Amino acid sequence: MAQNFPTQAQVVIVGGGIIGCSVAYHLTRLGWTDVVLLEQGQLSGGTTWHAAGLVGQLRSHANMTSLIKYSTQLYSELEAETGLATGWKNCGSVSVARTADRMTVLKRTAASARAQGVAIEVISPKEAQDLWPVMAIEDLAGAVWLPGDGKANPTDLTQSLAKGARNRGARIIERVRVTGISVADGVVTGVETDQGTISAEIVVNCAGQWARKVGQMCGVSVPLHSAEHMYIVTDRIEGVHPDLPVMRDPDGYIYFKEEVGGLVMGGFEPEAKPWGMAGIPDDFEFALLPDDWDQFEILMQSALQRVPQLATSQVKKFYNGPESFTPDNNFILGEAPELKNFYVGAGFNSMGIASAGGAGRALAEWIVNGAPTMDLWPVDIRRFANFNNNPRWLHDRVKETLGLHYAMPWPNRELDTARPFRRSPLYDRLAAKGACFGSKMGWERANWFASEGEEPVTAYAFGRQNWHEAVKREMKATREAAGIFDQTSFAKLLVQGRDAASALNRICAADIDVAVGRSIYTGLLNARGGYESDLTVLRLSADRFLLITGSAQPVHDADWIRKNLPADAHVTLTDVTSAYAVLALMGPHAREILSRLTSADLSNAAFPFATVREIDIGYATAYANRMTYVGELGWELIVPTEFAVGVYEALHEVGRDFELRDCGYYALEALRLEKGYRAWSRELTPDITPYEAGLSFALSLDKSGGFIGRDAVIAAREKSVQTRRIVQLTVDDPSPMLWGGELVLCDGKPAGEVRSAAYGHTLGRSVALCLIEQGSGVDRAFLESGRFEVELAGVRFPATVHLSPAYDPKGLRVKA
Ligand SMILES: Cc1cc2nc3c(=O)[nH]c(=O)nc-3n(C[C@H](O)[C@H](O)[C@H](O)COP(=O)(O)OP(=O)(O)OC[C@H]3O[C@@H](n4cnc5c(N)ncnc54)[C@H](O)[C@@H]3O)c2cc1C
Repeated sequence: MAQNFPTQAQVVIVGGGIIGCSVAYHLTRLGWTDVVLLEQGQLSGGTTWHAAGLVGQLRSHANMTSLIKYSTQLYSELEAETGLATGWKNCGSVSVARTADRMTVLKRTAASARAQGVAIEVISPKEAQDLWPVMAIEDLAGAVWLPGDGKANPTDLTQSLAKGARNRGARIIERVRVTGISVADGVVTGVETDQGTISAEIVVNCAGQWARKVGQMCGVSVPLHSAEHMYIVTDRIEGVHPDLPVMRDPDGYIYFKEEVGGLVMGGFEPEAKPWGMAGIPDDFEFALLPDDWDQFEILMQSALQRVPQLATSQVKKFYNGPESFTPDNNFILGEAPELKNFYVGAGFNSMGIASAGGAGRALAEWIVNGAPTMDLWPVDIRRFANFNNNPRWLHDRVKETLGLHYAMPWPNRELDTARPFRRSPLYDRLAAKGACFGSKMGWERANWFASEGEEPVTAYAFGRQNWHEAVKREMKATREAAGIFDQTSFAKLLVQGRDAASALNRICAADIDVAVGRSIYTGLLNARGGYESDLTVLRLSADRFLLITGSAQPVHDADWIRKNLPADAHVTLTDVTSAYAVLALMGPHAREILSRLTSADLSNAAFPFATVREIDIGYATAYANRMTYVGELGWELIVPTEFAVGVYEALHEVGRDFELRDCGYYALEALRLEKGYRAWSRELTPDITPYEAGLSFALSLDKSGGFIGRDAVIAAREKSVQTRRIVQLTVDDPSPMLWGGELVLCDGKPAGEVRSAAYGHTLGRSVALCLIEQGSGVDRAFLESGRFEVELAGVRFPATVHLSPAYDPKGLRVKA
């Protein structure tokens, strides 16, 4: 064993790339100095050393943008603190558009950037050329300029972060390989290394493309797979100077930056080349893969078009380095749901340099506080389940995810690779009926149904897409007759035991200790009073509760609930998602249809709203929960999986007389938005309280024993002014389509952001839920007196905000 090798530490970090060093830096900044970082080779020798070092701030989620904004600030200040340069240069960046659709993307981006406080300007091709003189512009439609973007030297930055951590007491030890993770009673207790063991309260897996393997040492899924990522460095090129901005040409899949008077040119080709199928060699240190000009060809051709001088310049070096990519192109952060006190920061999808500052701080705060301090759902490790760790699936998926960086971010864009993955028992039947499937949490879900002669394939566009009329048919059926929705992907958690009621009641903000047979809509709040989830609790018996939650949330919600169950409580939680299909029968004819298949009394008196009963449906016995997400009469039928096909067929058989129609998720989304129903991860986030969400009716402030987040919720209620609020908005002009992410203005000034949107066919216009923010308060007077607009790709449309749902079931019908 090496001399002075530590035997214990509060935190052990595995991996000395930029992420591990940033976590060490930020932990020590938060006052946790008993930190040991172990690196099997030398610092930055994994993937970090050969990164191009681009730091672009814009991301599709506001909090992700704010993480990178913080990175830029840190990188500009770090040298002053540590004395080690970071190579940070605030050179700005230009992104160009070759097509009108891409220009729409850039204009939409510009609007949301402004809302997030990121400086951005929409500029002409000529102005772009003035900033970046070596490019050809004949084929360009326009560009944007982000003066706050920049570039850094990845190795210098890593060393500077490491120095900052060391200065505050962290020990950083190179040439030590972690070979095992010690665990006792479901809690991590330390690491085994080739130099000895270290006991630790907390272990952080920042092992880059080795992180999946490190996770497997202790049963933790870290779903990532390596792919080759390439760039070239040229000799000097005339007109290329040290202050040249970074340049991105996403339609050509390429980026550029200046280096020693020449250009670095790399990119994200649409079909990537996975690597490391037999595992990542331990000694892959300061190493590269062979040049692959065939794979690079698509990028090179495009670069020659943008920078004609490349045809006559020398290529000094070809860098082909492997980087880890994840199934959705977002990184993986947080405490593993499988193992207490084991944290992960990995899978950076070629954004690790840009993200390191913010991601390192976010993970350090999560460790120190025991919970995230902001909404990190897009990168939360709990958005994946263990089936996502399947190596063949990952291999096939990362072929597509690398290219997503520059692929057109169409609204409602679906990933195409490695599908179908998870299928409901009705999949084949829905496919035969013309379903066009999307995917969520791996489930194939019908988005819309094509009619005879229509292709069930979505044609992406920013305006109305080819399913506009299909969704209109489905909405009309649900509002006026009946629709059947396959919601099998809903996550289902069974919580049972003697103490289930009392333990759950502290976790749920509503009172769930109700009579058997009641179903309760409730939020699960964190200590800040923000939403960790919203779900329905069905009380099946005195000590048995079935929780129905969002398709994407089974791992997250199960983890949240388990963490908050008292250690000595007699209660268990089981994910029973695969045990039940869910068929939602919704619409004014729902009762008549169902009554023909059951002996149960479905009258209002016997089966009121928000109750659940076990009933017979045809030959099946299933739970029927009288609740819908669309604002119509209806039941969610929770059917044992093997009976789902029978129930579906029986419903259609009798539904023929009642114009029952198969409906998909696009219709469901539009129907719930017309009714103003909120969705978790969009309107309801860990940063939003029930008062801001307009859902205080679902709180039980006075129930005995209280609930998690109660104090924060009361404080939120007592605030003299509410500065944020979720409100419904409709666009006055019936033509435009909203998709979400658009800027909302009040009296000409940015006032908020559209969180979810759809075309509401019942209302005959686009309908959205927005987060409105205003320092002086968002109250009724403000909302009623303000002149609201929504900005679509640079054009502003007058809009109306609603404090009560715009859809009034009594009056409205889908417009003919
Ligand atoms: C060609 C290329 C260009 C890129 N350009 C950019 C860019 O312009 N901008 C940007 O933001 N990002 C870019 N990236 C991405 C960026 O390099 C990565 O996202 C980032 O370096 C990941 O850092 P990391 O710390 O997670 O991984 P790594 O740097 O790989 O660090 C992980 C470390 O863990 C160590 N380790 C693994 N297992 C063990 C073990 N068992 N015991 C001890 N140590 C272990 C490894 O040796 C390694 O050093 C680029 C990547 C490539 C390949």
